Amino acid sequence: MKTSYINGRFIEAGEQELKNINPSDISDVIDTFSRAGRAETRQAITAAAAAADSWGRSNPQQRFDILDFIGSEILARREELGALLSREEGKTLPEGIGEVTRAGYLFKFFAGEALRIGGEKLDSVRAGATIDITREPVGVVGIITPWNFPVAIPAWKIAPALCYGNAVVFKPAELVPSSAWALAEIISRSGLPAGVFNMVIGPGREVGDEIIGSNEVQAITFTGSVSTGTMIAQRCAARMAKVQLELGGKNPLIVLDDADLEQAVDVAVQGSFYSTGQRCTASSRIIVTDGIYNDFIALLAKRTKALRVGNALSSDTQIGPVASASQLQQDLEYIEIAKQEGATLLVGGKRIEGETEGYYLQPAIFTDVDNRMRICREEVFGPVATVSRVADYEAALAEANDTQFGLSAGICTTSLKYAEHYKRHAKAGMVMVNLPTAGVDYHVPFGGTKASSYGPREQGRYAAEFYTRVKTAYQKAD
Ligand code: NAD
Repeated sequence: MKTSYINGRFIEAGEQELKNINPSDISDVIDTFSRAGRAETRQAITAAAAAADSWGRSNPQQRFDILDFIGSEILARREELGALLSREEGKTLPEGIGEVTRAGYLFKFFAGEALRIGGEKLDSVRAGATIDITREPVGVVGIITPWNFPVAIPAWKIAPALCYGNAVVFKPAELVPSSAWALAEIISRSGLPAGVFNMVIGPGREVGDEIIGSNEVQAITFTGSVSTGTMIAQRCAARMAKVQLELGGKNPLIVLDDADLEQAVDVAVQGSFYSTGQRCTASSRIIVTDGIYNDFIALLAKRTKALRVGNALSSDTQIGPVASASQLQQDLEYIEIAKQEGATLLVGGKRIEGETEGYYLQPAIFTDVDNRMRICREEVFGPVATVSRVADYEAALAEANDTQFGLSAGICTTSLKYAEHYKRHAKAGMVMVNLPTAGVDYHVPFGGTKASSYGPREQGRYAAEFYTRVKTAYQKAD
């Protein structure tokens, strides 16, 4: 049985078992894990707190070597780790390998950043005094991640945490422990001192709760649902811990009359349905202007019907299964809600059988929607998109921004004027012109506005804002 990693070793197995099931074939048990609880989490926090100071003073070469080692091994094993990820989460094999590759490069990026942690030196306005502005580690960082990117999201939190000299207590999502365990196993051989990195596999309401509440954890970075994130922010504020949240999305994709039709349909299909729509950046609201609407919808329906849904590991599969029984249930409930609200189900939306028993769902498109409907306001987190029809760009922009979320916003257009206007006026953290709303490079900031994100950005050089504290030091020499 596989176990949690605490203070430099994989701990003894406990009694509580957690089975990791393949959503493409629910008879396939991938791994069995020992479920940790509050006591193990406290041990992990204590170990991290003890290791944090000395790691915070470690030299940049040591940090570079360790992060580079982790990145290199991930990249060397990307096919094997990608297959494991696809098997446990259900995204297709190319998507699984792509995600692992991104994780490898994230570690490489932050290996380099470890050599570039700098500061500023200013003269004081007081005679003879100088000022150093430096970045220091925060201390112990608690990392809580969701199931939809089992390797990339942990990587984009763990790599900067270690790069900037913090100790880590990492809690992966219970649905996808195998990828997290594989990552921890690589980290365990990287030369990192015991206690600097810890992984605790167990339920959110115990392991996560313990991490959030501990005064020895100075910062929490969380990706997941709005409800859990809101609770975490409140609890962190109460004890004045740093907090960073990446939450949901209801991302718009505008298609204007002047768009390249083939390209727009491609962008819509990829953004809405790839990774089975289980991306916080998925395009779930497609907003189309009058002149192109009929052609767009006809081609979108044709292309969506032709998508091959099946076992994530089969080479001809384009859309893998939904990740879990409860997520499938949620998707089907929203499909019913949309019908009851009066939307028209244009294609898909039915559970289908595969060669093996899994959570297969046909990608669904709804038309005749009104942006006030629940199907347009609430995140489904599945292969479900709505298409609405609007008069012009101004109406499309207003509808795109009419949401509680603000993660990613797309537009398909050949007009420089509208593209430029949209980049400035879309109320979202990320804007995509003629590209899917999902798919952000590993070296640039990731995050949103409104209910989608809270706190500093993740990824790229902007990650330093969360993983460090700034110190201002004065010195008078004469
Ligand atoms: P979730 O909030 O249920 O769980 C996320 C993590 O929090 C898991 O590890 C879970 O065990 C833990 N958790 C749950 N309850 C907890 C508690 N009471 N205390 C502490 N930890 C707790 O979300 P999920 O279902 O795993 O993920 C899906 C959600 O994640 C979607 O809403 C999606 O939009 C969002 N998401 C956002 C981004 C982004 O970057 N914005 C990326 C991926 C996923």
